[in-house]
Amino acid sequence: MARVIADENEHVAHNYHPLPVVISRGEGVWVTDVEGRRYLDLLSAYSALNFGHGHPALLAAAQEQLNRLTLTSRAYHNDRLGPFAAALAELCGKDLVLPMNTGAEAVETGIKVARAWGYRVKGIEPDAATVVVAHGNFHGRTTTIVGFSDDPQARDGFGPFTPGFVGVPYGDAAAIEAAITPSTAAVLIEPIQGEAGVVLPPEGYLRAVRDICTKHDVLFIADEIQSGLGRVGETFACDREGVVPDVYLLGKALGGGILPLSAVVADREILGVIRPGEHGSTFGGNPLAAAVGLRVVEMLQTGEFQTRAKALGEHLEARLQSLVGEGVTAVRVAGLWAGIDIDPAVGTGREVAERLIARGVLAKDTHGQTIRIAPPLVVRATELDWAVEQLRFVLAG
Ligand code: PLP
Repeated sequence: MARVIADENEHVAHNYHPLPVVISRGEGVWVTDVEGRRYLDLLSAYSALNFGHGHPALLAAAQEQLNRLTLTSRAYHNDRLGPFAAALAELCGKDLVLPMNTGAEAVETGIKVARAWGYRVKGIEPDAATVVVAHGNFHGRTTTIVGFSDDPQARDGFGPFTPGFVGVPYGDAAAIEAAITPSTAAVLIEPIQGEAGVVLPPEGYLRAVRDICTKHDVLFIADEIQSGLGRVGETFACDREGVVPDVYLLGKALGGGILPLSAVVADREILGVIRPGEHGSTFGGNPLAAAVGLRVVEMLQTGEFQTRAKALGEHLEARLQSLVGEGVTAVRVAGLWAGIDIDPAVGTGREVAERLIARGVLAKDTHGQTIRIAPPLVVRATELDWAVEQLRFVLAG
């Protein structure tokens, strides 16, 4: 194991600080390291593995497609993209899908779409369009996106940045309204801020954002890349307030934990502004990803995963609340997604995550004192109970 880590340290850029485990197999909620030790995966690759490692239905879809056709580019049509897009559009209640690969690409695409809509439909002056974003946001790592982050680690040393973004406090709908001008094309927010530590906005915030966007003819873009596709006990985190944004940004679990697949989903009046030649990606909409994505959408259409996440999330929340005052200062839970603030007297989030490894549990720290957990939605209640007991043991020192 030390050798594998040394090789990685020697030859891979140090843009991450991984926990010291080397995983070689995964099945459902469990992963196995190179020395045969098993761990419960409470991170799910930041929610990309909502269906667990190697879900048989997803593997079957990938394997069947691997043997037929993997890549055409969009220079030609392929027979998988249409069915995938139709199913995803239906799941979202929208007309059109623009397929990309990574989450950051979906966000970039959403920004381009909003600007193009702003100029061509709303009539914003050329090059004047702005997008309102929230403090504490995380939308990815490209230069445009880090330019409107307020996390110094994400931004410092990477300027100059793309202009046209206005930051306001997260959870404050009045601040959004105050930031809107005739040049505002869109409001871009995470319905629940994931990387910030599973930060839930106050009740009514999403509804207020919806109303404000409608009133001022501004697009409401919901980045559901981490919060969407079953994680919070609904198909989308916006569903928690019965809100439908103008644009969904999706990624992570859309590729079934098998390959990168992201998408921008919106109605024709919005996404229809993009014309041939204005945007694209060699791998975007490839038949292999589309075949897996179609199966993902079919699995979500049954509602089974959303229901599981809701019921198990309530179960998890009750268990986690019992840790408050026992080494935990606060917990925030939405479905099977939790931010757990660790009492500094016990250690940092990183230290707790490292101690959990020895107990057979993988979880990841974020922003110093917080541990974020997002188990695969196929986890069992008994497995959650066991994981919380391991956390209790670690917190007790
Ligand atoms: N948007 C949100 C809300 C995310 O949580 C992430 C990744 O964590 C991204 C966008 C970027 O996705 P990717 O890492 O696939 O580029």
